[in-house]
Amino acid sequence: MVSVQNIKKSFDNNIVLQDINLTVNKSEVVVIMGPSGSGKSTLLRCITFLEEPDTGIIKLGENEVIAGFKPNKKRKSSIRELRQNTGFVFQQFNLFPHKTALENVMEGPIVIKKMDRQEAKEKAKVLLNKVGLGDRMDHYPAKLSGGQQQRVAIARALSMEPMVMLYDEPTSALDPELVREVLLVMKELAKEGMTMVVVTHEMGFAKDVADRVIFMDDGMIVEEGSSDQIFNRPREERTKRFLRDVS
Ligand code: ADP
Ligand code: MG
Repeated sequence: MVSVQNIKKSFDNNIVLQDINLTVNKSEVVVIMGPSGSGKSTLLRCITFLEEPDTGIIKLGENEVIAGFKPNKKRKSSIRELRQNTGFVFQQFNLFPHKTALENVMEGPIVIKKMDRQEAKEKAKVLLNKVGLGDRMDHYPAKLSGGQQQRVAIARALSMEPMVMLYDEPTSALDPELVREVLLVMKELAKEGMTMVVVTHEMGFAKDVADRVIFMDDGMIVEEGSSDQIFNRPREERTKRFLRDVS
């Protein structure tokens, strides 16, 4: 489904991604962990070309984008397609403050997919019900808790019917009592077969849901394996140290 090949990225003289290779299969859930500054967010941003990698290739389904070329029409349309087929959920929910939950979820399909308004509304309702917000559709973000806002953000990402969902520390900005409701929604989506890449330090989620856990440090994939292997039998010293520090 997703293939990341030889991705390298520097900011000035700071090498942030050294040479990342990663394949995510259809319906697979991959959890990425690693210390702050290890390049996790940059990797997710490179997958969608929100950040252009210096070199490397990103493939999503049949669409392939090679980094480091000058923009032309074909390339721009490939990048657009890449983004349209990727759902991105950030730590900060970034909802439109002047739109209701329902309007937030309808926006993408109407503006980008040119979907009929009534159809977009019906689909948005289904999605908001799915994330447990059937009774909050007409609320503005300011009237919703952080957990509810993040669930709207997930519904909004799903409204574009992405091939893969990318989550960048989706529960890090939430009060502890609101973390569970967001993780439950993500777990439900995983069960339904959604392909997901999740940057999180929630080990319970990783143990329950991840098909594969990747440990990153210093712009590299240091170690990857099942959650059981990574958490109970880490091979690398850096993984061991990280796990000691976060637990
Ligand atoms: P993580 O998400 O693992 O905490 P990031 O991908 O955010 O790590 O950052 C990795 C490194 O890249 C950090 O040293 C960070 O300061 C640097 N970095 C990230 N984005 C930029 C940017 N736009 N300009 C310059 N440096 C950046
Ligand atoms: Mg980050």
